[in-house]
Amino acid sequence: MDWLSRDAAAVWHPFTQHSLWLSDEPTVIDRAEGPWLYDVDGNRYLDGVSSLWVTTFGHRTPEIDDAIRAQLEKLDHATFLGATHVPGIELAERLLAMAPGAPGAPGVAGVVGAAGSGPAGSGPAGDPALGPQPRLGKVFFAGDGSSAVEVALKMAYQHSVQTSGSGVPHGGRPLFVHLREAYHGDTLGAISVGGIELFHATYRPLLLTTAPVGSPGVRKPGQSAAERAVEVAEELTGLMARHGDQVCAIVVEPMVQAAAGILTYDGYFLREARRLATAYGALLICDEVATGIGRTGRMWAVEHAGVVPDLLTCGKGLTAGYLPLSAVLASDEVYESFLGSAASGRTFFHGHTYTANPLCCAAANANLRLIAQRGLVARAAALGERMGELLAGLQDHDGVLEVRRIGTMTGVEVRSVGERTGAAVCRAARRRGVWLRPLGDTVVLMPPLALGPAETDLLVGALIEAIDEVVR
Ligand code: PMP
Repeated sequence: MDWLSRDAAAVWHPFTQHSLWLSDEPTVIDRAEGPWLYDVDGNRYLDGVSSLWVTTFGHRTPEIDDAIRAQLEKLDHATFLGATHVPGIELAERLLAMAPGAPGAPGVAGVVGAAGSGPAGSGPAGDPALGPQPRLGKVFFAGDGSSAVEVALKMAYQHSVQTSGSGVPHGGRPLFVHLREAYHGDTLGAISVGGIELFHATYRPLLLTTAPVGSPGVRKPGQSAAERAVEVAEELTGLMARHGDQVCAIVVEPMVQAAAGILTYDGYFLREARRLATAYGALLICDEVATGIGRTGRMWAVEHAGVVPDLLTCGKGLTAGYLPLSAVLASDEVYESFLGSAASGRTFFHGHTYTANPLCCAAANANLRLIAQRGLVARAAALGERMGELLAGLQDHDGVLEVRRIGTMTGVEVRSVGERTGAAVCRAARRRGVWLRPLGDTVVLMPPLALGPAETDLLVGALIEAIDEVVR
């Protein structure tokens, strides 16, 4: 039996309708090198989505391979419950040194207390200064992006309990505010603050009670991004005026709702969310699982708006796509509310078996070290600009509804010409040697951040040809 028949007989794939699986001609990947994926028949494809938005330099980066091998020679696993280890300590230090708002961290000069407009958002005139913002001072490790989001939600709620005065459960604020079209992962807490009806509606009866506001990335015809940001900020202002004393956190994907189809939005909304959270004593959780580690042309997407959250989640690109590891960066204020006697109940009763696995931490340490050494974030910003130039012609293409981009994160929404047009465009791109994956009819480009000029031309050229072929 060939590999696909064996796969179909044994495997259940994520986010996959198996009645369509084989007709979509899935690729059986055998090996990878740099930006290239090779299938079992020896065909080569450019990895246009960084293997689900994780690859930073490319596959099989020698320095990261070596770091994992060296770690393997010393320590495979040790629990982080009751013990600690060097790669975990080093990684926490590294993440804090590069956290938004950290002194000397690249791209954050003037962020703390910065006035008004970031480069990606203007909002109305008179966008006031944000005032003092939190200092991110501790790192809590988890496994996948979803588990980091669960950690952040539980921390936020427990923080509200611990600062409510009563000190024991019931005194807390049970409400999370989140955005329509949001995606924060697939575990129950994460989908409670999600807003993609296709994925989440089925589970609503099981979920936390939440308060959603509109997506700042979904604009009415003719509405500018800045106007939409103001509109949703007003909706959020009204909601907080009514329920603010019950809200423990406002949860957002900063600057772009990725899984909803790369819905970019104006940074003014993020600053308003920061202001309102602070004003009502709620936390701001920024989920940087997709956006973090350079993907938007800044180390963190919040830098575009000059915002520092109380809790920041990251994952995906943290280990350059090698191994599952995520983290929550927490403010001093949140962390300090968890201090008390053993009997106080203020311990954070949460941890995963593989939390801070040393091999994962070694991969992340090597990745972050190389990112700094090679100026990868600035290169990602330049790559994004180049992609923008190459894609400019598509704005007027009659097969394209919209091109949305922040840094290297790009969504090209194509006009539907029947069922699953986005998937058909991706298959046509694959025939041209480029591997892509759509979100509905939005074709996503999310290349490795170190992609070279020739490969960038191939990536965008293949997409344009595929759209020409499919969308007529
Ligand atoms: N948050 C965001 C913003 C994401 O985009 C994702 C995954 N695409 C997640 C959380 C969940 O991460 P994971 O798939 O690693 O659980």
